[in-house]
Amino acid sequence: MIQFSHVYKTYPGPIHALKNLDLEIKKGEFVFLTGPSGAGKTTLFRMISGFDRPNSGKVIVCGQDISELSAKDLPQFRRKIGVVFQDFRLLMDRTLYENVALPLMIRKEKNSYIEKKVAEALGSVGLWFKKDHYPAQVSGGEQQRAAVARALVHQPGVLIADEPTGNLDPNLSEEIIQLFERVNAQGTTVFIATHDIDLVKKRTKRIIELKSGSISKDGYEKSDVERSL
Ligand code: ADP
Repeated sequence: MIQFSHVYKTYPGPIHALKNLDLEIKKGEFVFLTGPSGAGKTTLFRMISGFDRPNSGKVIVCGQDISELSAKDLPQFRRKIGVVFQDFRLLMDRTLYENVALPLMIRKEKNSYIEKKVAEALGSVGLWFKKDHYPAQVSGGEQQRAAVARALVHQPGVLIADEPTGNLDPNLSEEIIQLFERVNAQGTTVFIATHDIDLVKKRTKRIIELKSGSISKDGYEKSDVERSL
């Protein structure tokens, strides 16, 4: 589902953000990505979502070689990847319904289809009853759940989340991770970057640790987590 082979990414400086990275995540996996600030987590996610390309090496996501994506193919490709951010990135002047509907409206889907898909997505995060609220009228946890609904409305094969609990208190953070677990149980591959040690330690999930642009650990051992976050 996600495959990185000998991937290098260098920014002007030069800053070597990713160095000879090899990684494989299979369909249906649930994986945490950890590592200190500046380790390359966001760079890695930007490649998975087709926002950036490697300088060398191959990144293949859902069967698509990222380097071969043309501008014309990009919208179609992005529908396969749901993205959730730390700061939610909801439009504050739109209701939760409108925020979740937006990706489908941009695709010019029929209203009846949009209504059905938004009801499913908001329903799956338990927020249909707040569909007419604006983001400022709901809690941070609810805003993040709405952002997850927006990411799911295309029914993506992969959901990536970059520090999705960074702005939430521990109870709401746990709720959001449980929501990702439910999404994963339905078959979606889930890949979450986090610094939240408690969330990771509670579970037995695959943990990939990045350090200075390379993978320093990859496995299920929780004993190492404390040092890597
Ligand atoms: P993380 O998400 O783990 O904090 P990033 O992927 O954001 O790490 O950054 C990895 C390295 O690449 C850092 O040294 C960062 O400063 C650098 N970097 C990231 N994006 C850019 C950019 N657009 N231009 C220049 N340097 C960048």
